[in-house]
Amino acid sequence: MFKPAKFQGKKACVLGLGRSGIAAARLLAGQGFEVLVSEEKKVSTLSDFDGKIEVETGGHTAKVFACDFIVKSPGIFPNHAVLKEAKKRKIAIFSELEVALAFVPKETCVLAVTGTNGKTTTTSLLGEILKEYGAACTPRRNTYVAGNIGAPLSAFATQIKAQDFLVLEVSSYQLEDSTFFRPKVACLLNITPDHLDHHGGMDKYIRAKARLFKNQRSNDFAVLNGGDELCATLVGAVKANLAAFSALPNHPLKTDVFYDGDEIIFSVGHRLRPPQLKGIHNVENAMAAALCALSVGVPAEIIQRVFQRFEAMEHRIEPVATYKGVSYINDSKATNLDSTIIALKSFEKTPKIWLILGGRDKGASYEILLPYLKTYVKEVLSIGESMDKIEKELKGQMPITRCNDLKTAVQYAATHAQEGDVVLLSPACASFDQFKDYEQRGQVFKQLVQELISH
Ligand code: ADP
Repeated sequence: MFKPAKFQGKKACVLGLGRSGIAAARLLAGQGFEVLVSEEKKVSTLSDFDGKIEVETGGHTAKVFACDFIVKSPGIFPNHAVLKEAKKRKIAIFSELEVALAFVPKETCVLAVTGTNGKTTTTSLLGEILKEYGAACTPRRNTYVAGNIGAPLSAFATQIKAQDFLVLEVSSYQLEDSTFFRPKVACLLNITPDHLDHHGGMDKYIRAKARLFKNQRSNDFAVLNGGDELCATLVGAVKANLAAFSALPNHPLKTDVFYDGDEIIFSVGHRLRPPQLKGIHNVENAMAAALCALSVGVPAEIIQRVFQRFEAMEHRIEPVATYKGVSYINDSKATNLDSTIIALKSFEKTPKIWLILGGRDKGASYEILLPYLKTYVKEVLSIGESMDKIEKELKGQMPITRCNDLKTAVQYAATHAQEGDVVLLSPACASFDQFKDYEQRGQVFKQLVQELISH
């Protein structure tokens, strides 16, 4: 456990100069610690670091081991040589999240959301609900939304007050490093294979996710997906009050909420209409957010009000435009096979989708997509590094056109699609082969669609 007082006057080494590392370095320097940031890649440093924070880039030197403790950015592999060496030298290693949490009052109500897919949607929805609720409380309770969602907790940990709500999106990378993390409300959405290269296999990935519940006690709350076989296996280890959800008719765990195709019905009696978002997965995200909010005393009417105004999030089955009767949908956030399947299943069961698929491959086989491609897709338009693998695995079973890049794919789809068709960017791959990140990939797609319309 990171105790700031114990390390007062000591030197911190922050490993990684990404968003989390930068925020952690600023937090610690602001709290009077001497800080070194060490980054493996050659990247440019930040001007406001001058003087206060020492930076080394292009590799980790012996300076790292001269520090008294290490703060690890979530993206660094757990078996990285620099961490192994630090452990050998008995240097304390803390995660960015746990360092930041040490500056948050103990009384703050912390709600944490994890899962392979749906984290950002559920975290945002829950954040909106708590903002609305907290604003009506006397005294007012502010809500902070942080973590894997792109806003590291280190950036505002010191502003949070005891009465506030803190909603954290936590990734498996962050959980894998957490030792004392104890959220008041812990929510696990689902577990499907992802990031297996980082964790070193499915078992370790599941173990990382299970850490969310590890330190909870009987007066805490756990919300998990009762329709997910792997989530169900973790129930035995949950000590908190458990609430399970599923929008599916059959599920391995008894649930506290179900969906009748129109409303979400809670065993405690509430009935809520889910937000107007595409796909049954979003009903589950809404169920999860509602169960978390109810567990901390939010009235059902407030949850309903937020559901009514909550709109599709950017890059997540986001409608871009309809042009010449063809709908263009941006699901750039679908960076694994499972989320592409989820996106396909949110459409009508007729093959009218032109699916833009590909990017940086994540190791799994595209064959798992086949039944869904046959049901929903007219043609696969492949892009990026994974084109050869996609072709090899799907050839002969689906029409595939090799498009190389997004521009060619959008133009091809626009020329061939008929009225009523859908052009869907849901690539099932990471974006880093051709883009900075999935956000840039989605922006480029939207821009290409706008150009199409304006010509
Ligand atoms: P995350 O933050 O976990 O990546 P997002 O909320 O950003 O999740 O959604 C990313 C994609 O994951 C969505 O576009 C959708 O395809 C899929 N997805 C969202 N919610 C769920 C869910 N509950 N179950 C399965 N897949 C989901």
